[in-house]
Amino acid sequence: MRANATGRVLHDPKGGSFWFDAGAVCLDFAHTGGEGRYAVFETLHEPADLGEWLAQPPLVTVMTVPVTAGELTAAKALRQAIWEAAHARAARRSLPAEAVATINRAAATAPLVPELAVDGTTTGWATPVRATQALSTLAREMIELLSGPLSGRIRECASDDCPLVFVDSSRPGARRWCSMERCGNRHKLRALRARRATDS
Ligand SMILES: [Zn+2]
Repeated sequence: MRANATGRVLHDPKGGSFWFDAGAVCLDFAHTGGEGRYAVFETLHEPADLGEWLAQPPLVTVMTVPVTAGELTAAKALRQAIWEAAHARAARRSLPAEAVATINRAAATAPLVPELAVDGTTTGWATPVRATQALSTLAREMIELLSGPLSGRIRECASDDCPLVFVDSSRPGARRWCSMERCGNRHKLRALRARRATDS
């Protein structure tokens, strides 16, 4: 897994898209869709969609065993648990017990196993590579995140109507927005208009 290779293009149902870096693969994964009012953002419709998402950097998990429908269901449960735990932590609430149990369950299975080549580089993951292992790797990353030094840096976007969550791993730790091009600029424009209105 390469560090600092997080981030994905997110699409909204109206056809817009923007780059969003949640700062951790597990948090990027939490933004692949959701339940209830977030169901319109679903990107994991078929088991193959999950395989495709996991095959992208930084995990580059190319399945040697096709993703099953059961694994897709487990992936969505883990995604929801990561989403809920991240929002609880961002709001300084205690973590929901059900989400914690789901994350622990996913982490308890064998994770992806890195494989070393004779030239000293890692060539990828030891085969067979299954989606369940990738889910375990994501769950373990979330556990490290929640219990590690960056736990207090898990935040929700500062925009009132934006539920995106990220971990701010920058040195100054001053990140407020999901992305500058989306909520950051919107906020700047609004502030500018407000200033002009009071100036005139
Ligand atoms: Zn935002």
